Amino acid sequence: MARQGNIKISSENMMPIIKKWLYSEKDIFLREIVANASDAITKLKKLVSLGEAKEEGAYKIVVTADEKAGTLTVEDNGIGMTEEEVETYITQIAFSGAADFLEKYEKAGGDGIIGHFGLGFYSAYMVSDDIEIYTKSYREGAQGVRWESDGESTYTIDTCEKETRGTKIVMHIAEEEKEFLKENRIRELLEKYCSFMPYEIYLDPKGEEDKPVNTPLPLYAKQPKDCTEEEYKTFYRETFHDYEEPLFWIHLNMEYPFRVKGILYFPKVRKKVELERGKVKLYCNQVYIADNIKEVIPEFLMLLNGVIDCPDIPLNVSRSFLQNDRQVQKIAKYITKKVADALCELFRNDRAKYEACWNDLATFVKFGCIKDDDFYNKVKEIIIYRDLAGEYRPLESFFGEEVSPEDAKAGKEPETVYYISDENKQAQYIAMFKEAGLNAIRCDTYIDPHFISYIEYKSPTRVRFMRIDADVATALKEEGEEDKTILGIFEEALKERKVAVKTEKLKNGDVPAVVNVPEFTRRMSEMNSFYGMDGMEQQLTLIVNTNCGAVEALQGAEEGDRKAAAEYIYLLALMNYRPLTPEELTQFTAASVRYMQSSLKKN
Ligand code: ADP
Repeated sequence: MARQGNIKISSENMMPIIKKWLYSEKDIFLREIVANASDAITKLKKLVSLGEAKEEGAYKIVVTADEKAGTLTVEDNGIGMTEEEVETYITQIAFSGAADFLEKYEKAGGDGIIGHFGLGFYSAYMVSDDIEIYTKSYREGAQGVRWESDGESTYTIDTCEKETRGTKIVMHIAEEEKEFLKENRIRELLEKYCSFMPYEIYLDPKGEEDKPVNTPLPLYAKQPKDCTEEEYKTFYRETFHDYEEPLFWIHLNMEYPFRVKGILYFPKVRKKVELERGKVKLYCNQVYIADNIKEVIPEFLMLLNGVIDCPDIPLNVSRSFLQNDRQVQKIAKYITKKVADALCELFRNDRAKYEACWNDLATFVKFGCIKDDDFYNKVKEIIIYRDLAGEYRPLESFFGEEVSPEDAKAGKEPETVYYISDENKQAQYIAMFKEAGLNAIRCDTYIDPHFISYIEYKSPTRVRFMRIDADVATALKEEGEEDKTILGIFEEALKERKVAVKTEKLKNGDVPAVVNVPEFTRRMSEMNSFYGMDGMEQQLTLIVNTNCGAVEALQGAEEGDRKAAAEYIYLLALMNYRPLTPEELTQFTAASVRYMQSSLKKN
């Protein structure tokens, strides 16, 4: 006899609220229903293994859409339910579960629950007007049961004919949600949420040979020793639709004290300037939860591509709770450590490959250091830079001796490491450094300006960085007095220009002068323009090289010629520092022509 009942929890008001809140993510309903089917099979398997239930054919989940009837059906051959169980689990638990979820959701401010886990069976009402359940328990002699409700306030329950063990959920899809009856749409959802669920899932099976839409044993769930290189690459391609091969990967496999499985891939960086965002997909027992959950996966790791399965993460809580959860913090730390270990291993065991990959790794590693001190401490010895000869060397090998606190008090500075930020613009300085036998590092990832500041902050007694054009006088000078005459000539000639003048005897005799901008003001100026403010005026200093014949010759020249030559030398130095302005370029051209004429006349 059919019985009717009232749903105990007041659910009349629940549906509109759930619909409104979850509107953008209502497609999770299919995940919830299929996950329930999958759980039901797992429970049955357990009973079979204990000898309490009989094995009957292959375990599977079948999803069928009937556009004409307007129904979407999910059928499993799992544990099934008796009438009492339907009453308890569906009418009471599922509905109170939804009410409970709603309360937590409200507390979390509306958008806080990861992947909206916890809504369960009830979530199907987001897209259905009415739901029928046909189920038969695994118990011997069990009767089929049919339950039906529109999700509002009443339900009907009755016995029915059902041949096979298991549960069939028939969702009568609402008029405005008809998209969920389209095969493509359903396939898309199954691929997104269910592709690694542990039992075969079939969509609208049309015959014996139909292939499941999912991979019941995804690669990440296997033991690393059982996986081949080819399988890792195929898994990457299929999961991330990236046809570039990954550089390398890390297979996480932890059982104790918490469970984490997954594979993190280091992708090839395509665009140099832009940080490409990766995708780290979070799963819970092979059920997809969401991408890039920063509470669980450290932010910098999201530059990678990967799948991570953490069954121990409490998912039906708010995000702010997750952030402060000790267990979650430990998991995040473990993942970070594994990544650092893998990088160190590659550095030690296959230096050639490490160097070949470094270009693609560098941004990630540097970003990781800035974001996470623990990560920095683990990888600081394997951060490499190319030197002037183009050889990679660990950054720390460029550092000097540690400056003791006493020496620091007495004004001793840590060793300067010079760097190049632009090989073309700084060509003259590079040539001078090479000739003088000095070295410098090449900073060519866009994060380097931030990164070197970070390193200075971490190792204040061991290093400071200076761009190769910041202090040539100190780097390249030889002993010698200031030349007052030359200084006077240049100061007089350049008094209209915004440039300070110094004379110095430099190691290279063929460069008459160079322009310097102090490191500090240049960095400030760069920082300002980075944040969209006006760049500060840069203090230029012209270092006139008294070791250069052209400069020496000025002493005997006539006053007019001296002025013209000093200006010319200034423009030469300037154009080796930055592009000339149109005005400067005109002056430079005129002066060049003048010199050419006079030299041609003489001969
Ligand atoms: P949860 O799965 O989080 O417990 P749900 O609302 O999704 O909450 O489901 C409530 C209960 O209904 C489940 O715990 C389970 O006992 C029962 N149930 C749901 N779907 C099935 C199914 N396909 N087969 C057997 N039992 C089911």
